[in-house]
Amino acid sequence: MTAKKDMIPKPRTKFLRLKCQGCGNEQNVFSAASRQPKCLACNSVLAQTTASRIRTKTKIIKELE
Ligand SMILES: [Zn+2]
Repeated sequence: MTAKKDMIPKPRTKFLRLKCQGCGNEQNVFSAASRQPKCLACNSVLAQTTASRIRTKTKIIKELE
């Protein structure tokens, strides 16, 4: 519970549970994915990748550690 914790950056990768806006399918997506995650059901893009993490284009249901 000290500021010392901030000295060591932890990897900020995690899984996100996203809901497809097109068909309502829910699936887990890795936040540091190197490719655009697509809906497994209707193939629409769920998020865009950036240098280090994804930007979700759809609703995040839940963040998973
Ligand atoms: Zn879909």
